[in-house]
Amino acid sequence: MRSKLVVGNWKLNGSVAGNEALLRSLLREIPPGGKAGCAVCAPYPYLAQLQGILRGSGIAWGGQDVSAFDQGAYTGEVSGRMLAEFGCRYAIVGHSERRMFFGDTDVVAADKYAAARRAGLTPIFCVGETLEEREAGRTETVLARQLDALLEKQGAAGLDGGIVAYEPVWAIGTGRTATAAQAQEAHVFLRERIAGRDKAVGAGLPILYGGSVKGANAAELFAMPDVDGGLVGGASLVAEDFVAIWRAAGAA
Ligand code: PEP
Repeated sequence: MRSKLVVGNWKLNGSVAGNEALLRSLLREIPPGGKAGCAVCAPYPYLAQLQGILRGSGIAWGGQDVSAFDQGAYTGEVSGRMLAEFGCRYAIVGHSERRMFFGDTDVVAADKYAAARRAGLTPIFCVGETLEEREAGRTETVLARQLDALLEKQGAAGLDGGIVAYEPVWAIGTGRTATAAQAQEAHVFLRERIAGRDKAVGAGLPILYGGSVKGANAAELFAMPDVDGGLVGGASLVAEDFVAIWRAAGAA
């Protein structure tokens, strides 16, 4: 039985004062032991602040990326061990914005997943097609390519303990959400592809949906049997909206 999880992705947003206010509001509404899990992924410089405020609470935290390397001459990189030192449970890897703007390839995303696992973190491995790819009927081809890079690197057993996020690029930050049926269809495709290699890992793997999730559409998405929660960008910056999404996950 997979439980639901809602993860906020703050992206390139935040300030010390703003984070404090947002996190205090979340803490008032999200107690430990809630039915759905909850986490926020913040820019690196704020992770110590998150650790100070969220330690012992019902809200976990994580990084929005992680280096594929463990240490060495890699200027600007942040390793999984460093994230773990600041109490991170999660690291997002292969987000479409990393793929689009920073050159993260399928192989790099898989390497980052492996690095996160080496550090004891739970990677959230993002996959998703562009609008052009969907309209050309290539959604499954693209998802298969992205997922297979990870399966080749890790084997199906390496996905045990990880998380996959289906994030159609055309739905991220656009206000255009995939329908619940579209999300379910993609999640089943991903789950079956993994189950084809290892049935138990496929059945147990949490698959989150991301792409303009809001309080108004969360319940419908989370009601889908293979949608195990959400990766939430814009709406995670507004306490009321993020709490509504987390509540919808708990009620699903
Ligand atoms: C994301 O950043 O992963 C995301 C899904 O963003 P948004 O919710 O704003 O579409």
